[in-house]
Amino acid sequence: MTSLHIQTALLAHPQLSVALGKHVWLKMENTQPSGSFKLRGIGLLCQRAVANGATRLVCPSGGNAGFAAAFAGAASAVRTTVVVPETTSAAVIQRISDIGAEVIVHGSVWHDANQYALQLCQQTGVVYIPPFDHPDIWDGNATLIDEAVAQAKAMNTDFDVVICAVGGGGLMAGILEGMHRNGMADVPLIAVETEGAASLYAAIQADELVSLTAIQSIATSLGATRVAPAALHWTRQHVVHSVKVTDRQAIAACLSFAGDMRTLVEPACGAALAVAYQRLPVLENFKRPLIVVCGGIGVSLQALAGWKTQFSL
Ligand SMILES: *Cc1c(COP(=O)(O)O)cnc(C)c1O
Repeated sequence: MTSLHIQTALLAHPQLSVALGKHVWLKMENTQPSGSFKLRGIGLLCQRAVANGATRLVCPSGGNAGFAAAFAGAASAVRTTVVVPETTSAAVIQRISDIGAEVIVHGSVWHDANQYALQLCQQTGVVYIPPFDHPDIWDGNATLIDEAVAQAKAMNTDFDVVICAVGGGGLMAGILEGMHRNGMADVPLIAVETEGAASLYAAIQADELVSLTAIQSIATSLGATRVAPAALHWTRQHVVHSVKVTDRQAIAACLSFAGDMRTLVEPACGAALAVAYQRLPVLENFKRPLIVVCGGIGVSLQALAGWKTQFSL
């Protein structure tokens, strides 16, 4: 089974490396055909579902997960339905239908769309594609670490910490799976959320799963009110530093990154980059950080300009 995702570049970040006196590495997942790392995990989940006889895929997400599912469905020539709430913009709906998926608008919030998606999946052959909580998603996301480790080895280097953004924790669970299968079980992970979307941070504080009552962050791709149980479980088996940044810090990082690397990324990705751009103390003792540039299609020059004004940056 050939994978749907591509091998992405491992790049040095020249300006941050100089500014911090560290070797700052970037795994450029924004260059995946779907615009984010999601194609790795969701792509694999979709491929496995089709191999097991799925005749239709249904994904409840108007974000990067839905876009990756649409991409995977088209590549596997299987009918794909993305269910989104009424708040979803016409542009997003257009973008998903342009790659051949069917879009159903249902309900006023994600929960309603999800309920409808689950209902569709009661028919035989119809498979539910969740955004982050599935072992196949973690298997697929883990390939980004397989690649990064091989790429670093070829350059005679390695990493002493990995930094990633956390929404529902599917990226984090995949990264940790990848780290453990590549001899990096002792390398810490910095798990970054924005303040209004910090469901992992809350779960770690409470030492149990917590459902946030609301998401109040510009980083909509991090807006899972509750993390996957596996994500919290991982924090008990691996050194995970859970940190929060403000929306403003995430946007500032997106702006700096656009200038430095000539690349646009979502605020969700800016959150991970902010750990380095803000020189957070958590990074102090590390010399060779790997930042997972998770990417995202929810950004444009216009959106970035709007956020810049909004936060007086
Ligand atoms: C989905 C997503 C995240 C968060 O991933 P989870 O698996 O939900 O933790 C972060 N950044 C981008 C761009 C995403 O699309």
